[in-house]
Amino acid sequence: MPAGGDTPGLPAGSEPIPLSALQHAVYCLRQAALIHLERLWEENRFTAEGQVLHQVADKPGGRHVRGVRRQMALPLASLRLNLSGVADVVEFHRQPDGSEVPFPVEFKRGKPKSHRADEVQLCAQALCLEEMFDKPVPMGALYYAETRRRTEVAFDAELRGLTEETARALAGIFASEQTPPARYKASLCRACSLIEICRPRAGERSARAFRRRLVEDLADAPSADPEASAHPREGGA
Ligand code: SF4
Repeated sequence: MPAGGDTPGLPAGSEPIPLSALQHAVYCLRQAALIHLERLWEENRFTAEGQVLHQVADKPGGRHVRGVRRQMALPLASLRLNLSGVADVVEFHRQPDGSEVPFPVEFKRGKPKSHRADEVQLCAQALCLEEMFDKPVPMGALYYAETRRRTEVAFDAELRGLTEETARALAGIFASEQTPPARYKASLCRACSLIEICRPRAGERSARAFRRRLVEDLADAPSADPEASAHPREGGA
């Protein structure tokens, strides 16, 4: 696929961004950079379950299920957003006029989540399909292994905006080749497969330790002239 998008904010000539990176980026931009830029990957139970699920879904081919044409492991791309990847399943829903509307279905482990990472990844697939088939893709679905249910997702303006914003943020990281610094957030970091590599609290602890050492050093320092320590010399830091 040719590299580079022509949308303002996306660097021309850059490598396509993997669709799977978007879900990581919504969760944490640093996580996305560690996995997709630095190529670090730490497998935990959650990621292992997810991979098994995708291996089941990622068998290429097409078939009809209850009158709906289904295409498995369909390659996707968007030149506009510089995205590429593979959809688990795309259904083609036949309309009364005989045309077909693509309907992406993504398999996920667990159950519906409180954040929008899964929806953003699915919406990115829809944006690719719209560009590839030149027709609107208004809906898709997430299938969760734990609940064994489909959750339908409407690709409204808000979700499309969040998806494009995320793609641009990732494009910026890929272009700069800079991994964002860690920011500890318990609700995210505790379930993060990269916590041991990322060590999001290390900086926090060392800053605290540095401050404590500084206070101790100042307390221990001999103060021959109290006035001198109260008023730093001219030109000093
Ligand atoms: S441990 Fe936290 S800061 Fe580090 S990559 Fe994971 S979610 Fe992001």
